[in-house]
Amino acid sequence: EVRVRFAPSPTGPFHIGGARSALFNYLMAKHTNGKFVVRIEDTDRKRSTSESEENIKEALKWLGITWDEGIDVGGPDGPYRQTDRLPIYQKYTEKLLAEGKAYYCFCTPEELEAEKQEQMNRGETPVYSGKCRNLPKETVEQYLKEGRPYVIRVVTPKDETLEFDDLVRGHVAFDSNKVGDFVIVKSDGIPVYNYCVVIDDALMRITHVIRAEEHLSNTPRQLVLYHALGFPVPTFAHVSLILGADKKKMSKRHGATSVQQYRDMGYLPDALVNFLALLGWTPDSDQEIFSREELNQQFSLDRVAKNPAVFDIEKLNWINFHYMKQLTADQLLALCLPHLQQAGYASQEPDAAELSWLKDVVWAMREHVQYGAQIVDAVQVFFTEDYAPENEETAAVLKEETAPAVLTMFRDELAALDEVTADTVQPLFKKIQKGLKVKGKFVYMPIRVAITGVMHGPDLNVIVALMGRDKVLSRLEQSGL
Ligand code: GLU
Repeated sequence: EVRVRFAPSPTGPFHIGGARSALFNYLMAKHTNGKFVVRIEDTDRKRSTSESEENIKEALKWLGITWDEGIDVGGPDGPYRQTDRLPIYQKYTEKLLAEGKAYYCFCTPEELEAEKQEQMNRGETPVYSGKCRNLPKETVEQYLKEGRPYVIRVVTPKDETLEFDDLVRGHVAFDSNKVGDFVIVKSDGIPVYNYCVVIDDALMRITHVIRAEEHLSNTPRQLVLYHALGFPVPTFAHVSLILGADKKKMSKRHGATSVQQYRDMGYLPDALVNFLALLGWTPDSDQEIFSREELNQQFSLDRVAKNPAVFDIEKLNWINFHYMKQLTADQLLALCLPHLQQAGYASQEPDAAELSWLKDVVWAMREHVQYGAQIVDAVQVFFTEDYAPENEETAAVLKEETAPAVLTMFRDELAALDEVTADTVQPLFKKIQKGLKVKGKFVYMPIRVAITGVMHGPDLNVIVALMGRDKVLSRLEQSGL
């Protein structure tokens, strides 16, 4: 049985890259009918916060990335938060110490720094010399009794090649001499990531470790520990970095980087999942829209590319637009309402009449909105008093010879309607064409520009109906009739 895991450190906003790792693990589990475990790696106590842990769990749930075992849901190998597992790590530390596979190191930070400088001056990679590896037992006991601060290091074998076949990167090899005896338990008694991760992955019976490329360089240390602890080594798959459009590592400079930010901008979870799946995974066709079912069926690690994935926001917008078009009017309104409220275009507690009007406005503009936040620009003509022609070309439409007659006739016809709806307004345009003997364009454009200031947008009769008679008449008036 395939068992995979996502093991976030709750140290900040939930990054898009983390969501991608979570998704790949989730899809791997779905595809193979395996199990997906979520574990919280919070041994970096200074940087870990429960707020960040909540954000991560909330974002995973929002994305629809659910887990079979782990934090909150439980399972046979818990607890699933590393700070709740300290006694487990301690047990293994004692075992390693007893077997001589780990040792106490009493070197002071100054001694270590001096050693490092010397090695660097000789042009060598700094590696711990192993000075405390063979301290006599009595000395160790003596130092411990004195209460000297210590760390615990693992014994790394000399002159070995630490190698593995990575499902994404292929064969990877490291020289054990460059790894050295590294720290597994810090002086405050807290075990380090590389150590906990190995024990947890082994005890949770993880078969495939799918994670970000930045952990590739941790893998040799983890291999040393798998060997020392006598655990079977899982299969690794290190997924490439995500780059911004400028081919530099994705960062805040490139815009939104956290899942929460995309949610708050009004992106849809289905769209984000579809997009994230394609960040590194290449299906064997040029299909770009994938339902969750299709992703579960088709995802496989052998089609995960070694070269970095580029985060193309245009593509995300295009995918999101696709999913937005599947929404009902009510769903679309729900997505857009917070943005309208933030812009001051909707009340905080809109009544039924306002909601119904907003729903129609949003629906009319749906072709112009790729994600929720864009609704504000799209609908602003209904709210702003700044609807003067946006540029000279637009202004010229109102200066056409026939424009004044068209606008006057439209004003009179509109004023005379019993009821203003998209259906009652539509025939007026034909009537004006016939009455004034002008082409359609010379009817639609001046009216559109006079009441919206732009030459594009949804059907004019829909705009007029949504804007309402009074506002349209007043805008026609303002246009200099
Ligand atoms: N806690 C690590 C991180 O968030 C997980 C690394 C791993 O998957 O092994 O980067």
